Amino acid sequence: MQRNYLNNTILTSLIVVTFIVILLQEFSFNKTFSITGDTEFSVSNVNDSGDNGGKSESSLKAENGQFILLCKIVASDFLWPFCEITITLFNSEDIQQQYGIDLSTYDTVNISAKYENHKNASIRFQIRSFNEKYSSLTDQNTWKYNGLEYQPKNTQYPATIPMNSLQVSTWWLIENQIPIELSAPEFEHAMVIEIATGNGISPGEYKLIIEKIEFLGKRFNTRKLYITIIVIWLLFATSVLFIQLSRSKRKLIRAERRTHELKQLNKLLNVESKVLKDQAERDPLTGALNRSGIQAIFTEELKVLSLMFVDIDHFKKVNDEYGHTIGDEILKKFAKLLSENSRTTDFLARWGGEEFLLVCPNTDLFSTADLAEDIREIIESSLWPKGIRLTASFGIAQRDNESPTAFIDRADKALYAAKARGRNLVVASKSSRNT
Ligand code: GH3
Ligand code: MG
Ligand code: MG
Repeated sequence: MQRNYLNNTILTSLIVVTFIVILLQEFSFNKTFSITGDTEFSVSNVNDSGDNGGKSESSLKAENGQFILLCKIVASDFLWPFCEITITLFNSEDIQQQYGIDLSTYDTVNISAKYENHKNASIRFQIRSFNEKYSSLTDQNTWKYNGLEYQPKNTQYPATIPMNSLQVSTWWLIENQIPIELSAPEFEHAMVIEIATGNGISPGEYKLIIEKIEFLGKRFNTRKLYITIIVIWLLFATSVLFIQLSRSKRKLIRAERRTHELKQLNKLLNVESKVLKDQAERDPLTGALNRSGIQAIFTEELKVLSLMFVDIDHFKKVNDEYGHTIGDEILKKFAKLLSENSRTTDFLARWGGEEFLLVCPNTDLFSTADLAEDIREIIESSLWPKGIRLTASFGIAQRDNESPTAFIDRADKALYAAKARGRNLVVASKSSRNT
């Protein structure tokens, strides 16, 4: 419960934070970087004269916070006459450490530049960037040209240029033998910003006014920020999943343990009920089965089943002469003797007082008679407490197509006959069909 509550709290906070961060990123978190005539960067002007071999002339001044580039394009043998204002972003003293300015966190540049007199002329804007993979600090020609040329008359003022619209000049890529994977625009180490007259400019006098170059960006890189958010969500989801997995695993283990406990308990109960059943089905004095304990054997579908009814002769006298305790002792020994001299497959029951039943499955009448005779002799010749001489009478029967009661009754009748004929005798009951 508590953990669910915690999860929900974290989830809610995450949703709120994600929402706020996305909103802030989209509508706020802006940052700008501006260059105006008041800039502290060193700014210079260049043209095609001098080393380039052209004849154009230019001058630069900063006035009212803006740059004014006066340019006289003069036709010459140099094919691409130009005038240019160069803003140096690196400090020549610590160029080794700094490699310019990182402009990669900006996505747009607004350029407020215009010709005062030639509305049709175009403007070239470029950012020169350094990359130690192909640039050398001493040779500015190895600094990448990321640029764009546009016509102010076809553009709003200021001209809004997405940074990803800037392209690397093909001639520069070829000249510096840049591999394809390094040919995309780069702004991590912007060294120089240049604004120049465009390609194929006609000879004449130009006045280029540069009010402002303004880079617009986000304080945090959108891609990195969103990846961070996704990673946080993934971590959260993973941990929730992990917690739930381990929780259900624990539940499973607990359930298994419970099942095991119940199984053990069940076993114990089975043993107990067996013991109780045993107690209910056994005679406490002799350990033989009692009447209800022996019933089960009669319900078995046995083809051949015989039984032996045994009754101690004149047992009343034993009790009378020696007392009940001796009587009990004799009863115990008698049962033991019967049990030891029968087969393990036979069942011994105490039917009442000094009457026992020995039920012999898969045994016919003749075998039962033999067994009874053996036992009779053993009883007669055994040593009994107080030197008592003990005999017993036997009534035996083999089961016919009859009820257990009728079957037992026949054996009982045979026993009665044995008593009547003088005791210490085995009498077999004839088939029920003959009686
Ligand atoms: P017979 O069977 O030979 O006709 O004579 P009997 O004396 O053995 O016959 P009867 O059935 O009349 O007597 C059975 C006696 O067994 C009666 C009783 O004193 C004794 N008896 C019955 N149950 C117990 C018992 O649990 N312990 C003892 N000590 N004696 C018992
Ligand atoms: Mg008797
Ligand atoms: Mg009796």
